[in-house]
Amino acid sequence: MSNKISLNYSPNFNPQKRKSKSIKFIIIHYTGMKNEKEAFKRLTDIKSSVSCHYFINQNGKITVMVPDLYTAWHAGKSRWKKYKSLNQYSIGIELSNPGHEHGYKKFSSNQLKSLELILKYLIKKYQINPKNILGHSDIAPFRKKDPGEKFPWSDLSKKKLCFWHTLNINNLKKFRNKKISSIKQDLFLKNLSKIGYDTSNLNKQKKYIINAFQRRFRPELINSFVDEESYLISKNIIS
Ligand SMILES: [Zn+2]
Repeated sequence: MSNKISLNYSPNFNPQKRKSKSIKFIIIHYTGMKNEKEAFKRLTDIKSSVSCHYFINQNGKITVMVPDLYTAWHAGKSRWKKYKSLNQYSIGIELSNPGHEHGYKKFSSNQLKSLELILKYLIKKYQINPKNILGHSDIAPFRKKDPGEKFPWSDLSKKKLCFWHTLNINNLKKFRNKKISSIKQDLFLKNLSKIGYDTSNLNKQKKYIINAFQRRFRPELINSFVDEESYLISKNIIS
């Protein structure tokens, strides 16, 4: 952690300090705002009621907005495994990016380098399991798409900074769009629940959960259709 870091505190956090052992997750976001200045302003504006712990701009400059031991307001209504409302258990990192609504771009290499630095530092400091490094869309699939399909989960998993499947991508492609039985479809949804996705309301939310899974683990095609490739990936992740 170097001279790339500056402080610019947000007023949006819970005043009560939390214990370091309550920090179990890191949630990755994109800002989804037209430009960086606007995003920065929003995250530090008392009227917005949103914030994050770390903001990383497109040049890789890191700004601390809320100290780790205070709960920031980034996750909103969310769920993962038995955890609900993940703000209290997590550290939120915002990457500046216009997002799906304003011209979603690739994350810059400087931005990703800074992210890696922070992740390594936080994983070590709070003993965070790489399985608990998640995207906002993982914990709030009905409302959120960030950090989105351009986020390099696969690269980060090779550095043990998150989890991903271990299957060969070229072999997997053969199973793309291949129909599967309804038994396997049910198994797929059970696998998603085991991974951590909220499958408590499948009638209404099935499509969103499948999309969130694909956005994260099969970013080349997000179509809410459970094909053999999606099924095989889900099976690999829980094994
Ligand atoms: Zn978000």
